[in-house]
Amino acid sequence: MATELQLRRYPFSRESRQAVQSVARDIGDLIEIAEESRGNYIIREAENRVFASLEQKEITTVNTGDRNDLLIYQTARLIVEKIGEHRLKEYQAEAESKAVNKFLSNERDEFVLEMCQSSFGWPVEPISRRDMKEDLPHYLRNFDAKMHFENFLEVAPRFHSNEWKLVNRYVEDGLVPVRKSELHRLISEKFKVLILTSTLNVPTLPSNLTQAVQRIESEIRSKIKKTDPIKITAKTVNALPPCISAMHESALQGRNLPHMPRFTLASFLLKIGMSQDEVLGIFKTAPDFVRGLAEYQVRHIATKGGEGYTPPSCKTLRGNTLCTVALGEANDPLCEYIVHPLSFFETRAWEISNNVRDHSWYSRKRRKMQSF
Ligand code: SF4
Repeated sequence: MATELQLRRYPFSRESRQAVQSVARDIGDLIEIAEESRGNYIIREAENRVFASLEQKEITTVNTGDRNDLLIYQTARLIVEKIGEHRLKEYQAEAESKAVNKFLSNERDEFVLEMCQSSFGWPVEPISRRDMKEDLPHYLRNFDAKMHFENFLEVAPRFHSNEWKLVNRYVEDGLVPVRKSELHRLISEKFKVLILTSTLNVPTLPSNLTQAVQRIESEIRSKIKKTDPIKITAKTVNALPPCISAMHESALQGRNLPHMPRFTLASFLLKIGMSQDEVLGIFKTAPDFVRGLAEYQVRHIATKGGEGYTPPSCKTLRGNTLCTVALGEANDPLCEYIVHPLSFFETRAWEISNNVRDHSWYSRKRRKMQSF
C-alpha cells in the first residue's frame, strides 16, 4: 500500500488516481475546491510547479498533511491545458518525468514492481535476490528484473542509445532483463508519454485560477522563444504535416469536409498565422459553403478564450482516423518525433527556411514520441 508521500510523488499511479477521486471526483469538483479560500494554496503550489517546469527546475512535492495536496499536480495539469501551448506541455512532461525518475531511486523494489503492474499493466518479475546472483547464468547477473518485450517496446524506442534497441537485448520467452535504473527510466518516460498524449476539456475557470493562468502566460513569452506566425506561402505549404496537407488538398479541390477535419484545418491554419479571411477562402469552394455560417465558425475558432482553439493533437487525430501516416497513406520521418501537428510545422518550416534537407538529425537530437 502506498504512503501519502508516494501518492503525491506518483500521480499517474492507480492508487494516487483513486485517492484523488476521493477528494475531487472530476474537474468540476477540483475547480469548486480551488474557488474556495482553502484552495488558494493549491493554486499557488500548482503555479509554482508549472513555473518550475518552465524554468527547467526540479519539481518537489508539497506535503502539508492535507489530502488536498493531491490536487496540486492535477491543478498544474489543468493550468497547462488551459494555456494550450504545446511547448509548455512538453516542458511540463519533461520536468514531471524527471522528478519521478529521481523519486523512484529511493523506493523499495516491491513497491516499484507492484506499481508497474497496477498502473501500467506491466507484469515485471524480480530476477533474484542479490545474494543469489552467483547462481544465475552469467548474462543475467547484471540485471534486476524481467519484463515483457511488448511492455519494454511501449517506451524504449523513444530512447536513442543502442542499449535500448530490442535487437541489442537478451530476450528469453518474451522477457527482457532490465536493470533497476532502466526500469525507473521506462516508468518515468511512460509517465511523460501519458502527459503528452492526454487532453483535458477545461471549462471556464474561476478568477483565482484564471489569474494564475495569465501570470504563467505572460512568463511564457520570455521563457519560451515564440516564433512569429509563419505565413503560408508556396514554400511553407511544403511544411504542412501529412494529415493537414491532405485536409488542405481536399478543401482546395472543393470537397465537403466533415466537422472534425474542418475544425482541425481551420484551427491549424489560424494558429500558423493565416487570417480569418484567408481561411474562409480555403473553404469557399465546398458545395456546402454558407458564408455567414462559415464566417461565424471561423471567428469562433479564432477567438475562443482570447487565443482561439488549439488544433487537436496527433493522438486525437489518430483516434479519428485522420492521421494519414497511421493510415498508411503518407510517410514522413518527422512524424515519429512530434506529438502535435504544430510541432511538425514549426520544425519543417525551420528546415525549409534553413535549406536543411537531410533529416537524419532527428534521431541524433530528438526523442521518438510515437511510432507507426
Ligand atoms: S503523426 Fe501527427 S502530424 Fe503526422 S500525420 Fe499523423 S497526426 Fe499528422
